[in-house]
Amino acid sequence: MTSAFAEEKTTLFDFRYWTAPNHTRIVVDTEENTLFSVSAKDNYVLLSVESAEVLPQTFSHLFFEDERIKRTQIKRSGDDIRLIFYTNNVFKVKHYTLAPNKKYKYHRLVIDLIDLLPKTALTDTAIEQYDAPRKVVIVDAGHGGEDPGALGKNGSREKDVNLAIAKKLVDTINQSGDITAILTRSGDYYIPLTERITIGLRKKATMFISIHADAVESSSAKGASIYSLSEKGETSKLAKQLEQSENSVDQFGGVEKVIDNDQFLKTILTDFSRKDRDIQSQQLATTILKQISAIGPVHKKTPQKANFVVLKSPAIPSVLVETAFISNPEQEARLNNWREQQKIADAIFQGIKDYYSAVEASL
Ligand SMILES: [Zn+2]
Repeated sequence: MTSAFAEEKTTLFDFRYWTAPNHTRIVVDTEENTLFSVSAKDNYVLLSVESAEVLPQTFSHLFFEDERIKRTQIKRSGDDIRLIFYTNNVFKVKHYTLAPNKKYKYHRLVIDLIDLLPKTALTDTAIEQYDAPRKVVIVDAGHGGEDPGALGKNGSREKDVNLAIAKKLVDTINQSGDITAILTRSGDYYIPLTERITIGLRKKATMFISIHADAVESSSAKGASIYSLSEKGETSKLAKQLEQSENSVDQFGGVEKVIDNDQFLKTILTDFSRKDRDIQSQQLATTILKQISAIGPVHKKTPQKANFVVLKSPAIPSVLVETAFISNPEQEARLNNWREQQKIADAIFQGIKDYYSAVEASL
């Protein structure tokens, strides 16, 4: 005796993979209450889904290989589906599910294959044995991987333009010779907000700049805005909305809650002067805004304050740059133009140099 419901299969709507320096993330779009299990052996990770089907139009998305996954295979056992990810190593395997949100309409089943020994660990130790350069700027491209950030009317994704501008900024800074710049992410994958700060700590950074693009319902809003950290709160309603959306991105990571960020912060905030950092951040925001306003429209004529998790770096000036409104088609086109990206990068770099000159003049 089988009911009509029992015969209904769970649909696996689509598959996505994200390769990061220390992990590969597998994402399966599916339905709520999908019955599944994940198990790992030396050379494969197995995802078994009870009574399931794969859509013909996304079937090919399943097959993937990168530095961790050698090949993928699908096997059917009765109504059940087995997805086998053959691996070239043993990984720490984590899995969890995420509910739909504004950007993803399906429930998501996420499997992370995490390197047992992070590849960057050795290089990091090597760097720290030498004297760190005096000026180290962390350039953070907002969002990434499963978190696209804001979406443009013509289909641009904030994460892509953020990365393009961040890479140009890093190259421009490093070519100057005097300042060292380091990216938090160099490809299309997600990094939790607190890890972006940790990268700064490990690299003994002296400045933190996070690159974003704004979005609102109206397509006419335009211009850049610069935010510096304020523990007391935001200066505008837009800042409040932005703070919520930028801080909530860690829900995409699925492993970290905002409350954990606060706990993390309490431990790193204890041994430095918060007031000094807020003043420095405000100064940096002012010099960058001045340069940015020389190359295009600005949305707010003064630096804004918001309580972004990603700005909570210890003791170093930290700002978040909303380069333009991706929700405005004209500005979206500008954000995708490599010459404009370079202009924005040059303006931010000039703002950084102006800040350092002012600091050195006051010594
Ligand atoms: Zn953003």
